Amino acid sequence: MASFNELGLSENIVRAVSEQGYTSPTPIQQQAIPAVIKGGDLLAGAQTGTGKTAGFTLPILQRLSTASNAPKDKTSRRPIRALVLTPTRELAAQVEESVNTYGKYLPLNSGVIFGGVGINPQIKLLKQGVDILVATPGRLLDHHQQGTIDLRNIEILVLDEADRMLDMGFIHDIKKVLAILPAKRQNLLFSATFSDDIKALADRLLDNPAMIEVARRNSTVEVIAQKVHPVDRDKKHPMLAHLIKTNQWSQVLVFTRTKHGANKLVEQLGKDGIAAMAIHGNKSQSARTKALAEFKDASLTVLVATDIAARGIDIDQLPHVVNYDLPNVPEDYVHRIGRTGRAGATGEAVSLVCVDEFKLLADIEKLIKRQIPQEIIEGFIPDPHAKAQPIQLRSQDHRGGRGQPSGRTRPQGSGQGKPSGRTPGKTAQGPARPAGARVAVKQSAPRRSGSRGNG
Ligand code: AMP
Repeated sequence: MASFNELGLSENIVRAVSEQGYTSPTPIQQQAIPAVIKGGDLLAGAQTGTGKTAGFTLPILQRLSTASNAPKDKTSRRPIRALVLTPTRELAAQVEESVNTYGKYLPLNSGVIFGGVGINPQIKLLKQGVDILVATPGRLLDHHQQGTIDLRNIEILVLDEADRMLDMGFIHDIKKVLAILPAKRQNLLFSATFSDDIKALADRLLDNPAMIEVARRNSTVEVIAQKVHPVDRDKKHPMLAHLIKTNQWSQVLVFTRTKHGANKLVEQLGKDGIAAMAIHGNKSQSARTKALAEFKDASLTVLVATDIAARGIDIDQLPHVVNYDLPNVPEDYVHRIGRTGRAGATGEAVSLVCVDEFKLLADIEKLIKRQIPQEIIEGFIPDPHAKAQPIQLRSQDHRGGRGQPSGRTRPQGSGQGKPSGRTPGKTAQGPARPAGARVAVKQSAPRRSGSRGNG
């Protein structure tokens, strides 16, 4: 299998990729990267979880940074040369973050624009110019109508999750966008499924495309035992300590929503005598490597990670994944629990869910098309009268940042950036479902005796 180097990516790109902990390209990357670098059109069948984002992002960075019109620095004004269209703002933010991460050692800029947030910061961003723009179709057209975007220099167009875009009724918007773009350009179409509508779009859009199709990375949702433990907001930490101790878990990957939350949890677990370390964007590479090594050789019981930091962690047969906070983006749930149950091993994914998170849980269940069994733990019966509060979005991570001003050029220096003082916008909280609904009250661990009340 070819390495990232051998696929034709420059040293600066390979370095950024290695820093993510990726050791080898995924199948879609093996095929897509050389095809896109060559310059032709591409039709790719790939779902989320296959590494498709890097599959188009990396070769685009390669092309834009090595072309004769490549910019010399990050700050000068420049035209938009690559446009990525996505169906949702979450995906848009995610893709732009990938561009940003993989392009950190290149003199290229990226930005993201989507609807539902103020347009003015985006106008400012577009005025300055970015090399790579990620956008949802509607907002892109708004900018076009207002004359605040210039798409005349687009060299590469990507339609990401094209099937979802059609499902969401974006076909007319897409056609309008295509009509604005310069005729001569490279087109990449990614879709998980190939309906007649997608085929028709591909026919219209693509010129003699390379075609690749890969299977899903793993069918996580089917093989992993999943459980939700309803819990009061302020009882999550004692519940986690309780679960680890009573079940004698020895290797647990715990996900928190924010870096701050990760640090706080590590501290709290330490006080309980549970060895824990955090990995996230504010940690140095050496601290992350150390934590990961100790976790792998089982001298560390708990590794606490944010979604972004957890990318690239690949540990076979990880027995337990805990969602200390549910992710804001439902797809992240699938990524998170995919860390367990690998290679046929039985895995368990446990989510501690408080009243604020029921809407997120409903979104996840919709995505994975199943209800996750709920189980109340003795001693942690949630208050049935608790009211949902807005969820603090990731304090320093912008990904999935609903309500954020979306245009953003790369922060100078620190990569993931320092706390920016940005106020989290509107949150994903929703109508509270009574905590007791659809809940089985069972003992959490086999070996306990005594009766329990059931809320
Ligand atoms: P995607 O299918 O693009 O949503 O990517 C799924 C996940 O795989 C993301 O969390 C990526 O960070 C991760 N990923 C992408 N490429 C690789 C790779 N070559 N090795 C390990 N993880 C990867």
